[in-house]
Amino acid sequence: MKTSLLHVLYNSFEKWSSNLTTSCKKGCSFCCTQNVTITAVEGEEILRYAREQGKSSWIAEKLGLPRTCTPPKMTTNDFAKACLAGKDVAPETHHDMTPCPFLEENICMIYPVRPFGCRFFVSTLQCSASRPAQMSDAYFEASMAINQLIEHLGQKEYWGNMLDVLPALCDISEFKDIATSLDITLSRQARMRTLTAKPLPGFLLSEQDGPAVTSLLETIFDTRIDNMRIEDILNGK
Ligand code: SF4
Repeated sequence: MKTSLLHVLYNSFEKWSSNLTTSCKKGCSFCCTQNVTITAVEGEEILRYAREQGKSSWIAEKLGLPRTCTPPKMTTNDFAKACLAGKDVAPETHHDMTPCPFLEENICMIYPVRPFGCRFFVSTLQCSASRPAQMSDAYFEASMAINQLIEHLGQKEYWGNMLDVLPALCDISEFKDIATSLDITLSRQARMRTLTAKPLPGFLLSEQDGPAVTSLLETIFDTRIDNMRIEDILNGK
């Protein structure tokens, strides 16, 4: 059920933003750094994909490589909760440009199951070292809302940097084939660096762009999986 819901969120956002013209194209990997955050449900998809592709050892090797990523201090929903409570919090920014280990010859090797943090990250202008990615406020607000829903979906589970959540998930018996090729200390240390996904505290919508994002959210909430509305599933009904 969680995986089906995750795909509805991915697909709904893709459809909602399909009119956007971006500069992104295959082989352009400027934004593929180690700063991607994910939930456990997204991590499980990646590990299952690697195993189905006969790449259990490959992904274990990638996860064992030295990393430079800094663990985030708060989850997206922690940040939203603090903002909604009127606290003065700044979004975390990471300037480490070390390439993601899943990038080979500028191609993402897990592209079909890349997490939402990679899916939404586009730019309307060609990025460079001196020109960061550009996206509209409405697009950014919508992607933040979807990020919040994905975290809500995975609440109480691991949330954090992709390179920590993946080895942390290797303590699940389903992934023991990957765990056997992974240094056990690495998995333990990775678990310590993850946070716990939190429930949705509310959305951060502006007066100007809120209506466009609300239409996306209403479409998602009205979608049915196994004849149940997604809003009811997310509310635990
Ligand atoms: S998972 Fe794929 S799309 Fe995401 S940062 Fe890594 S190489 Fe890029």
